[in-house]
Amino acid sequence: MNFALSEEQEAVRKLVRAFVDREINPYIQEWDANGYFEPNILKRLAELQLMGVCVPEKYGGAGMDYNTLAIVCEELERGDTAFRTAVSVHTGLNSMTLLQWGNEFQKEKYLTPQARGQKIGAFGLTEPNAGSDVAAMVTTARKDGDHYILNGQKTWISLCDLADHFLIFAKTDPDKRHAGISCFIVERTFPGVSTRAIKGKLGIRAGNTGEVFLEDVHVPAENRLGEEGEGFKIAMSALDNGRFTVAAGACGLINACLEASVKYCHERKTFGKEIGRHQLVQQMIAKMAVNLDISRLLVFRSGWLKNQGKRNTRETSMAKWFACDAAFDAANDAVQIHGAYGYSNEYPVERYLRNSKAPVIYEGTREIHTIMQGEYALGYRTDKKLNKMLPSWPFED
Ligand SMILES: Cc1cc2nc3c(=O)[nH]c(=O)nc-3n(C[C@H](O)[C@H](O)[C@H](O)COP(=O)(O)OP(=O)(O)OC[C@H]3O[C@@H](n4cnc5c(N)ncnc54)[C@H](O)[C@@H]3O)c2cc1C
Repeated sequence: MNFALSEEQEAVRKLVRAFVDREINPYIQEWDANGYFEPNILKRLAELQLMGVCVPEKYGGAGMDYNTLAIVCEELERGDTAFRTAVSVHTGLNSMTLLQWGNEFQKEKYLTPQARGQKIGAFGLTEPNAGSDVAAMVTTARKDGDHYILNGQKTWISLCDLADHFLIFAKTDPDKRHAGISCFIVERTFPGVSTRAIKGKLGIRAGNTGEVFLEDVHVPAENRLGEEGEGFKIAMSALDNGRFTVAAGACGLINACLEASVKYCHERKTFGKEIGRHQLVQQMIAKMAVNLDISRLLVFRSGWLKNQGKRNTRETSMAKWFACDAAFDAANDAVQIHGAYGYSNEYPVERYLRNSKAPVIYEGTREIHTIMQGEYALGYRTDKKLNKMLPSWPFED
């Protein structure tokens, strides 16, 4: 067992940390206050080869291992959850799904420009009446010659207004539940596709989230990912990768809370001493420190399994559940440590608290992950090898 990061991984951490400190942290409070998503951040990430960091070089990526993606996500969320969410969706949910399930034509046409950051990918699973209960979706895909015709609505879709390509899940057999779902690559430019941002969000205000409308959208049959009826499996395997990035990002949020809180503990004095000298404050700091380490270890275990080409649904769910809850607790405590000052945007911790809530809801709510872990432990749930697995790392040429 080796707990050390490689030289390459350390270099990526340093690179992203410096990028965040230089190009996100000085502006993020204003972007957040104005509900503004800065698209140049994605362009800059593309220049740094970070939009397809764990995609093989032959498909336009940087060819690094899956834990390097975790490091990128951790460091991005140390700046703001919005940009980590963008990478989670673009790389974790979309590109890695194309890598796992796509044929050569689809990888060349869609994955390669995405990995280079020339095109942006999003993930359309959730509907107004189908969140945790994915199989309740009502979006349909009707076969018509060499096309499918899609009709329906997706909601809470991250990057909806920026994405060039969407993975859209729809029922090819509306009478069936899970077995009736298929997955399609839909281009924004296909007639009948429109999007609208959701306003008034609690957090991730510097991010773009919204609705996708599909009205008689003609999608070529060659854009179906996997087989008809395989969509549910594809969606769940996509979540194995998305959740991994969410968990990694949560480590970055805990780290940001810890950094801000330690700094404030040394600055603020009560009863004649730094507040860091009060044991009840130390307790909150200690909890952040231990939860950061536990979360990272869970994330890196999951990345290690991905590198081995092994299924990791159980381990990734555990990492996502633990790290996101821990990030929410860390942000709550960070505000507490800052007292009344933590309640205003003079300090970043109120943003951390608002941002920490969505990851406890998306990509499987806390309750769904609790149930999954209970079922695994009780032997009610097991995972089999999928038809198509994510390639192990190092990648073959
Ligand atoms: C900022 C943000 C970004 C998002 N981005 C995307 C995206 O890019 N793509 C996408 O497809 N979706 C996205 N989502 C949607 C997200 O994945 C869903 O919100 C999530 O799956 C939960 O679904 P829901 O909101 O419909 O809640 P529901 O499923 O209606 O759940 C409501 C409550 O009931 C609980 N509950 C439900 N079922 C059970 C059960 N069986 N046992 C116990 N409790 C249960 C839940 O835990 C929750 O507390 C995003 C959401 C947010 C907030």
